[in-house]
Amino acid sequence: MTLPDLGWTPYFEAFFAPYGKEGYIPARVAIQYRDKYVLYGEGGELQGQVTGRFEFQAKGLDDFPAVGDWVAIQPPVGGGTAVIHAVIERRTKFARKIAGVKTVPQVVAANADVVFLVSGLDDEINIRRIERYLTVAYESGAKPVIVLNKTDLCPDLGPIVAEVTAIAPGVDILPMSARTKVGVEEVAAHLSRGVTGALLGSSGVGKTTIANDLVGEERYRTQEVRETDSRGRHTTSHRELVILPNGGLLIDTPGMREIQLWGDAQSLQASFEDIAMLALDCKFRDCRHDAEPGCNVKAAIEDGRLAPDRYDAYKKLEKEIAYLARRKDQNLQRQETAKWKKITSEIKKTYKNREKP
Ligand code: GDP
Repeated sequence: MTLPDLGWTPYFEAFFAPYGKEGYIPARVAIQYRDKYVLYGEGGELQGQVTGRFEFQAKGLDDFPAVGDWVAIQPPVGGGTAVIHAVIERRTKFARKIAGVKTVPQVVAANADVVFLVSGLDDEINIRRIERYLTVAYESGAKPVIVLNKTDLCPDLGPIVAEVTAIAPGVDILPMSARTKVGVEEVAAHLSRGVTGALLGSSGVGKTTIANDLVGEERYRTQEVRETDSRGRHTTSHRELVILPNGGLLIDTPGMREIQLWGDAQSLQASFEDIAMLALDCKFRDCRHDAEPGCNVKAAIEDGRLAPDRYDAYKKLEKEIAYLARRKDQNLQRQETAKWKKITSEIKKTYKNREKP
């Protein structure tokens, strides 16, 4: 196994160089168990651990190695545990917020090159959700690819592909069936040797089945099995960073599966800027766009400037955010509100200035 086989590129080479001069070697994190790691390197698989000094110097959870990270290690003497000295600058990352005393971000997948945004064609396709996943993908730095799974259950694909193309110009859209295996090769083709992929999508869309198809064996348990399986989601052979038969790499971590779509008002603003702008002309500043008099959002629906389903999606999302916020600690809730207020006032400022001659 060479380093490029594991995803090593000139980017990592450049950030690793100072560590190389000090005698460290690079390795990639394949699994994380609390403070212990399984690493892949040129010499094969290794156990790794961070030093006390590393822990002391870490400012937050996101400073610790995550699955997919490249780390600088001290080669173990006589087959022992490798000591992890540093995390090499990440090229991309997916993080989730962990609610506790303080809400802190934790990286759940690092250095994925491609992220497959999976939807299931057994349900009505949710364009708004795809838009939101695209935002998450772009924030991560990974290249998004839209996967429309379960084509075996969808008699008329054309209009759906057209609808998705309209909101994702320039993004590859891959219809496939993980069950009949039609289209699996097109998905696998995005993960050529040394390229790392990750799957993102709601529960039940077929991520596990797709992962099994890509790996070429029943490595992961699908939901049907999982429901009756008290031992948890994964089989014992599970690795969170897997090398695929065609040389690509796939990251599948429990944290990645739990990524909450919303919780970030900025993403809401990005997707619903049209509504935020209409709201500028509501009579009341704190208009909820329900039954308030002088509501410009409601007026826009009446006169056709705003599609009713877009308004419904906005309201639904607002509820989702409120729900997430309740689950998070109050500190974060305050931050979210402040951020939302700031965004709204910035939009106001921008548009007020634009109106001036
Ligand atoms: P996950 O929650 O995203 O990991 O979804 P799973 O892979 O566990 O799949 C959820 C359910 O959808 C299971 O019952 C799968 O057998 C089923 N499924 C997955 N892919 C397909 C597909 O292409 N066609 C059909 N008909 N069912 C599928």
